[in-house]
Amino acid sequence: MDTKTVKDVQYWKTFAGSLKIDARALIDGQSVDAADGKTFDCVSPIDGKVLAQVADCGEADIDRAVSAARRSFEQGVWAGLNPRKRKAAMLRWAALLRDHADELSVLETLDAGKPIGDTTSVDIPGAIYCIEWFAEAIDKVGGEVAPVDHHLVGLVTREPIGVVAAVVPWNFPLLMASWKFAPALAAGNSVVLKPSEKSPLTAIRVAQLALEAGMPAGVFNVVPGFGATGKLLALHMDVDCLAFTGSTAVGKQIMQCAGQSNLKRVWLELGGKSPNIVLPDCPDLDRAASSAASAIFYNMGEMCTAGSRLLVHRDIKDVFIEKLLAAAASYRPGDPLDPSTSMGAIVDTIQLERVLSYIESGRQQATLLCGGSRALEDSGGYYIEPTVFDVTDPAARIAREEIFGPVLSVLTFDSVDEAIRIANDSEYGLAAAVWTSNLTTAHEVSRRLRAGTVWVNCYDEGGDMNFPFGGYKQSGNGRDKSLHALEKYTELKSTLLRLR
Ligand code: NAD
Repeated sequence: MDTKTVKDVQYWKTFAGSLKIDARALIDGQSVDAADGKTFDCVSPIDGKVLAQVADCGEADIDRAVSAARRSFEQGVWAGLNPRKRKAAMLRWAALLRDHADELSVLETLDAGKPIGDTTSVDIPGAIYCIEWFAEAIDKVGGEVAPVDHHLVGLVTREPIGVVAAVVPWNFPLLMASWKFAPALAAGNSVVLKPSEKSPLTAIRVAQLALEAGMPAGVFNVVPGFGATGKLLALHMDVDCLAFTGSTAVGKQIMQCAGQSNLKRVWLELGGKSPNIVLPDCPDLDRAASSAASAIFYNMGEMCTAGSRLLVHRDIKDVFIEKLLAAAASYRPGDPLDPSTSMGAIVDTIQLERVLSYIESGRQQATLLCGGSRALEDSGGYYIEPTVFDVTDPAARIAREEIFGPVLSVLTFDSVDEAIRIANDSEYGLAAAVWTSNLTTAHEVSRRLRAGTVWVNCYDEGGDMNFPFGGYKQSGNGRDKSLHALEKYTELKSTLLRLR
């Protein structure tokens, strides 16, 4: 590509028009149709048009993928490689993905409706960085020599679990998938990935590129399909670990499936209803207001960490809401292929209807401050205006349930204790934020918040891989990102050698 090319809306539209999408499954190093020939339509939320026919994998396909993964694991073609070689293979793959970054970005935008400005700056580079980060860790993390009696040597080592299945959602299709497959592959496992039926295309393409980069057949398989396909993996007797990101309701079913089958290890990254608390001594109300807007409107609110409950102290409420509404106005639904667009499409009609029905319930139980309607209907796509409600009752549905759309509930409090009580009164515990100028208050409030991530005077910072990511309570168990994520794809082994 000529480096002087201007990547404007025309560039991306032309790119989109020239894509040749191969949406077959990738099993044992081959692109294949589902064994029974079944496919489903992959519809672009941008304009409602069909992008591709995707292989709809059933039992025969899952069995083939799992046995290819098992075979490659047992043969040691990946797990048995010198760690440096495994690292080199993953870095080669990451470099190839970088060469294909535009293609992957446009594919993600078409498939999930995300603005191209986001897929080019967050989703695709973030997934590549994740692969590189875990690749770099491969030859750095060793085991332990444990203190033990003199006649013994005690080794504590980590070994790959074996066959890891990953079942992932659609809000950051490739990024969420990479948080699973990158550490799982780095640890030496073989992987079977089931992307969401709403956004399967980048996962398939990335697996094709893994093969091109020299990853051995069977090590990384992609099996598109619906929930039933994910359930087959959750019930499979030869899957050793299932790493899931998605809704709390499905997470519970997956745990049950593990209990009904082989007690596979289950790691769950689930939903959230995260509180964002603004205290009266907030150091910068303008920044807090624009942060509160991006916490809920970035990625159309399709964020597990969305700051969907904004808790504002009564003393600053009026002035804060004024600033918030001004910030919200900068999120306007537009053509996702236009680099100037800040808000794209909702992923599909099911999610569109779900969000609109929550807005309807909000109209009954709260006061609408802005938005509340569908937008750009003429495009054929699925767009919703940024929407803010003033909610007096924290028990209102919109203030308790995860909406996963651009809908913000503003709640009012009079004391720090009340704010913490409201914040923690949730089945979820994924993330939280507090805005204050007082260092002691910042530490005390963050300690009392029951959440896996707490931001102080910011929201959604920390794109680095170094921080573990995951939830308390029904937001899940286990952590993605960081070396803690690497651990969860290994078994811990104690080896005791008697010297005499
Ligand atoms: P979902 O639970 O409906 O689906 C997630 C995946 O599970 C999809 O691939 C789906 O096909 C599959 N699935 C559905 N039913 C299944 C079953 N019975 N057995 C096995 N697999 C099944 O979630 P979604 O709508 O795709 O994603 C939105 C949810 O994901 C939200 O709740 C959001 O908070 C959560 N999420 C969490 C994180 C996190 O890191 N905590 C990140 C992103 C999204």
